[in-house]
Amino acid sequence: MTMNQQICPKCQGEMEQGFVLDNTHGARIVSHWSSGQPKKSFWTGTKLSEDKQIPIGTFRCKDCGYLESFARPEFDAS
Ligand SMILES: [Zn+2]
Repeated sequence: MTMNQQICPKCQGEMEQGFVLDNTHGARIVSHWSSGQPKKSFWTGTKLSEDKQIPIGTFRCKDCGYLESFARPEFDAS
């Protein structure tokens, strides 16, 4: 599956790659997808299983603004 060229499923416009920012504790990190249902944790707010988080890449249509997201390891910050 190539991530180079995405076509908007709504208007067939050109989509550009980006990502959704998490602003947390003053840092900006790439949002991650996590499997399962969120469980509340007293210490961290939301309990996460570290090994099941996948960074999210989001494509945005240049014409209509539609967003399409993919959770894939290569979208992690490098
Ligand atoms: Zn579009």
